[in-house]
Amino acid sequence: MADIIKLLPDAVANQIAAGEVIQRPASVVKELLENAVDAGGDYIQLIVKDAGRTLIQVIDNGKGMSFNDARLCFERHATSKLRAADELYHITTKGFRGEALASIASIAHVELKTKQPDETMGTLVQIEGAEVKKHEYCTTQDGTSISVKNLFFNVPARRNFLKSDNVEMTHVEEEFFRVALIHYDLSFTLFHNGKQIYQLPAANFKQRIIGIFGNGFRDKLYPVEQETDIMDVHGFIAKPENAKKKKSEQYMFINHRYVRHPLLNYAVEQAYAQLIPQGYRPAYFIYIDINPECVDINVSPTKVEVKLQDDKLLFGFILAAVKKSLGKMSLSPQIDFDVDPIFEQMPQKPADRPIVLPTIEHNPNYNPFDTVPQYRGQTQRDSKPYQWNERLNPDSWNAFLEGLKTEHIAHQEPEQLEATLMVETPSSISIEADVPNDFPYFVVDNRYLFLQLNNRSMVMDIVSARERILFDRNMKALRDTPIRVQQSLFPVTVTLTPAQGDLAETLKKELLLLGYDIEKIDMTHFAVNGTPNDEEAEGDLQNIISNMLDDYKSNLFLHRSDNYQNIALCMAKQYRSRYAPLTSRESVTELVRQLFQCDCPTVSPSQQKTVFILEPQFIESLF
Ligand code: ADP
Ligand code: MG
Repeated sequence: MADIIKLLPDAVANQIAAGEVIQRPASVVKELLENAVDAGGDYIQLIVKDAGRTLIQVIDNGKGMSFNDARLCFERHATSKLRAADELYHITTKGFRGEALASIASIAHVELKTKQPDETMGTLVQIEGAEVKKHEYCTTQDGTSISVKNLFFNVPARRNFLKSDNVEMTHVEEEFFRVALIHYDLSFTLFHNGKQIYQLPAANFKQRIIGIFGNGFRDKLYPVEQETDIMDVHGFIAKPENAKKKKSEQYMFINHRYVRHPLLNYAVEQAYAQLIPQGYRPAYFIYIDINPECVDINVSPTKVEVKLQDDKLLFGFILAAVKKSLGKMSLSPQIDFDVDPIFEQMPQKPADRPIVLPTIEHNPNYNPFDTVPQYRGQTQRDSKPYQWNERLNPDSWNAFLEGLKTEHIAHQEPEQLEATLMVETPSSISIEADVPNDFPYFVVDNRYLFLQLNNRSMVMDIVSARERILFDRNMKALRDTPIRVQQSLFPVTVTLTPAQGDLAETLKKELLLLGYDIEKIDMTHFAVNGTPNDEEAEGDLQNIISNMLDDYKSNLFLHRSDNYQNIALCMAKQYRSRYAPLTSRESVTELVRQLFQCDCPTVSPSQQKTVFILEPQFIESLF
């Protein structure tokens, strides 16, 4: 029988490759923008018509191409960025596969005009479905302009697969953001159907974020900054109260390349655990600089997925860096950012370079809490009982109001949203940084507190609010201000299961910091010699202690890994529902004050909302 295997013609091979790399107009945008960045200029224009169906044009003022290169760049595996396989791990350019232009040219009408700055003449190349129609000298400006017209003209299946212009344009913009965000030192413009949509002058990272996502972001971000010998992390994260229920702006870059890596995303979200309600997502803009040898970018044709040599290390590093930022900004009291062991676990540098231990700069005197820390070695007896600050934490209060704004505008269209943000700049709302003494309120069912503060009507879930207050208090007790123990004249004996007893022994020290002085009698019996110096602890010690221990244990299985957080939360849960009826104005004011002294007052540590704003629209919807 005759041989039947044949090599595919280039045009067919390119179309097949295009199937992988070019899925929609946005894929062309990505490839052309990346080439423009690689070309080394400082101004890049993206011009799009009909969401890229009819035209995608990218103009740069970079190094341009020679007459021959202008033709050769459309060949498969034609690249100036890579010569040998081992260079793959030192790549600093966006491209290296030499596939994009060949793929694009096989499924569209392409016109290239390019000129190297030191040449007098430029080059024009026209290609239609891989067939070269023109290749000649022309006059044109320095740099490169590539127009891609009639995308998928010869691939009807792909063309029919495209979504509405709105959807396709969203994808186009997304690719534009990904490149423009991390290359903030270059200027970018985006035109759609003759209208300029974005004009982004060269800027710093934060200015670029604001340039893209609007002025509303100005006050919503905390910086993240962590430099070590092995890798650097920079960027911004959203304040917890600005987390959103729907998709948030989440951007991670490694070595100037946008990447999607579920584990690293999880690291960021994990740092927010207990600061934002379940299902809410923080915005973040983080870039990591790391030795390129530690990252394999060649795992997918679009290079968005990456493989990391040591993803656990990177995970820990990002988690710690984000936690540190949240902690430093006083929003996350449960985090001991100064002693995070991850920074000490950084691997050593490759042998050919001198080994320098990673260092972290921090201010040893910095203290995110208001009170002077006391050391745990101190006995609880000579320490002061826990006391609430007299004054409201103005940051919490402002953050709370900020949160209101976000919530209020969450359902609005982008244009409306922009308008709201413009009008409601923080300075236009005048806020007293203290809870007034005479706000109107009433209590329903001894569970829900309706109140009006600064002309806002709200309802507070007393139980969730108390959980937040107690959790913060417990964290503080565990860290630096132990709760005073009230010694009992007649110690109570509690009966535990052997497993509970074992755990009680282990947690003896922490329980003491929380005001419980327990002493083992035998495997299953413990004497409680002292209890916290507050009324709520009276009574049901047996249940409080055994439930708390059970809860603690089941959280261990749920990987609630921070020991202090776990204890603080479990104990808070024992107490959140034990409160005297709120019959006096003082008790109500005290509760409201205590809540707003917390650093994250709107969400309980079990991630329930503590306060709900009664917007007029909401009330209207009830009728
Ligand atoms: P890759 O970017 O992976 O090298 P491409 O198909 O995207 O592959 O581009 C092929 C080659 O064409 C590049 O390596 C580069 O030399 C050249 N090239 C593409 N776009 C530009 C541009 N805007 N300016 C200068 N050279 C370019
Ligand atoms: Mg390329």
